[in-house]
Amino acid sequence: MKKIVALFLILMTVWAAVGQEQAKNVILLIGDGMGAEQVRSMKYTAGEAAIMTQFPHQGWSMTHSLRDSVTDSAAGGSALSTGKKTINGRIADNEDGTPNETLLEWAEKHGKSTGIVVTVPITHATPAAFYAHAPSRKMNQEIANQLVYSGVDFAVGGNWCFFRPEKRTDSKNLIDSLKARNYQVVFNTNELAKIQQLPVVALLTENDPPKVEERGDWTTIAVTKALDLLSTDTNGFFLMIEGSQIDWGCHNNDFNHLANEMADFNNAVTLAYRFAQNHPETLVIVTADHETGGLTFDKKIDRLSPKKQQKKVLKYIHWSTGGHTAANVPVYAYGPYSALFEGVMENTDIPHKILKIWK
Ligand code: MG
Ligand code: ZN
Repeated sequence: MKKIVALFLILMTVWAAVGQEQAKNVILLIGDGMGAEQVRSMKYTAGEAAIMTQFPHQGWSMTHSLRDSVTDSAAGGSALSTGKKTINGRIADNEDGTPNETLLEWAEKHGKSTGIVVTVPITHATPAAFYAHAPSRKMNQEIANQLVYSGVDFAVGGNWCFFRPEKRTDSKNLIDSLKARNYQVVFNTNELAKIQQLPVVALLTENDPPKVEERGDWTTIAVTKALDLLSTDTNGFFLMIEGSQIDWGCHNNDFNHLANEMADFNNAVTLAYRFAQNHPETLVIVTADHETGGLTFDKKIDRLSPKKQQKKVLKYIHWSTGGHTAANVPVYAYGPYSALFEGVMENTDIPHKILKIWK
């Protein structure tokens, strides 16, 4: 009997392994500053819960950095990109300056196409943590330089000021450097929408990108184009999409800014989710680098009708800080191997799990 049970278990395991789709594509969506309450805010502002709350597997990520209980976006992004905790302010390296390989670099090395879509400077801490290595997130010019040689196939963000000779202290023309490396370089969403092949870098503003009300369909155009072009790679792709300005809204305790950026990020998650539903070899993970603002809601808001919630939400919110907090942040996963993202994990576990799945 024992032998039969053992045989049955082996057969089940083999069947499960064969039946499991590969996860050749990974889409990692990071809501900067997006804690559980920021996700929950959509219920009160949009009348329905954020799309990621429907994902089948959910967990929690512990966000502390190497020395601090409260991380910044540099150490938080580095943890998610490299699987190693570092000191606040550092970009994908250790205290001694040695670099840690990022998910994007691993994907490039193994023949996958790669992409980054953000709504802040393309050199900002979160995107930089995926393609650059630097002792300080403030080194925008150096980080811009590293983007040129990173091998990334699709990059959308703001601040072409860090790439133009007249704006750089070394007078380097990084737009020319990009073109010399076969990149198409575009400066607005109309041009981006017309791009037919990789590689492309889109720098959509001269300085810091504005709020979503002014950015318009930046996210929709960039994410749709990223998925169209990256999915032509039969080896698969890695795409990091950031809901960048959720953090900015929360730093200013500006609930309306947060709500609009959450809706924009939710739109990006919806596009990724729909893509994964039509492309089963795609794993979608939604998480955050940390929580910002210490946002909470008064429980009395739940007694109101959805209509009244939308109208009066400002009366029921509390902020505890203008900075980041140590709160755990949610993790949502959909697609092959998404069950691995259940439970409480370190932020550094997330890239380790992705690498394990790819290998
Ligand atoms: Mg960020
Ligand atoms: Zn922040």
